[in-house]
Amino acid sequence: MEYRKLGKTDLNVSRLSYGASPLGSVFRDISEDDGIRTVHTAIDMGVNLIDVSPYYGLTKAETVLGKALKGIPRDKYILSTKAGRYGAEYADFDFSEKKIRSSLDESLNRLGVDGVDILFLHDIEFGNLEQIFNEALPCLQALKQEGKVRYIGVTGYPLKMFSETIKQADIDCILTYCRYALYDNSLANIIPSFEEKGVGIINASPTGMGLLTNRGAPEWHPGNQQLLDACQKAVKLCQSQGVDITEVALQYAIDHPAISSTLVGTANPVNIVKNIEWAEKPVNQALVKEIRKLFDNVPVVWPSGYPENQD
Ligand code: NAD
Repeated sequence: MEYRKLGKTDLNVSRLSYGASPLGSVFRDISEDDGIRTVHTAIDMGVNLIDVSPYYGLTKAETVLGKALKGIPRDKYILSTKAGRYGAEYADFDFSEKKIRSSLDESLNRLGVDGVDILFLHDIEFGNLEQIFNEALPCLQALKQEGKVRYIGVTGYPLKMFSETIKQADIDCILTYCRYALYDNSLANIIPSFEEKGVGIINASPTGMGLLTNRGAPEWHPGNQQLLDACQKAVKLCQSQGVDITEVALQYAIDHPAISSTLVGTANPVNIVKNIEWAEKPVNQALVKEIRKLFDNVPVVWPSGYPENQD
């Protein structure tokens, strides 16, 4: 496994990392034992960054992850969790200082750890930006100074939110998702401004939350029909060449040199092994070219959060 420095932090993160949302049965009902074995396998094979949130499975993912991490030396993994998002509706977001502080304490309790390495504000495009910049981010800064978290950042879907954040606040890293994948690589356009400031980049969802898998996207996927259809064509194209689309999707997403780590989610111990082994091999550029062509003229971006926060 290759490790890369995350921005200006002292964290050396594995190039492929583990996203724990599937432990909350977000994509399908999972077996807890399989989920725990998946986490152990990932760590045994060199994955050292694990990401979770109280939102995933409405605290279930953190609870199952806490069981998996029990007994594992704390220096074996870098842990990130989030605060601010607790459900799918606007009413389920709370970026107040009071909530962030209690949320972190509850997360630590479920995870069975004394502290997390990174605390993110979760999906800031659903928040009031004035509160994000004047209350929530100063709260994260204070938590960092108090030693409760080592590093801080924000997550979200619209790229505009990240550019705005690094203009207004001092953060260590961002967690972006679905914007550097086979169907949409627009994250690349804003990467130089993050490199310039030493803000680390973690990319999530190399399969686009299931779009680029043989099983396809879950029902709740926000992508439009044209995008779903084009992804199905890509799946068939790969099948016709005897290739698993998830392999190409993963290898493509992790290939950008300025992305420190790419989070992939699974609760299947067999799939985590495949993912880690695939990550060691180079991507088939000719196939990537063919797949990328399928997305010419397809609207690949979906709305997320308040209209004024969209790209
Ligand atoms: P992903 O692209 O990693 O896809 C997960 C899906 O792919 C699941 O259905 C999983 O079963 C399937 N999959 C994984 N490996 C497979 C394999 N080898 N073969 C077949 N199917 C396979 O999307 P994700 O889980 O949403 O993203 C990864 C992680 O990134 C999340 O768990 C979460 O930690 C983080 N994330 C954060 C945000 C945010 O902060 N807003 C958003 C999205 C993701």
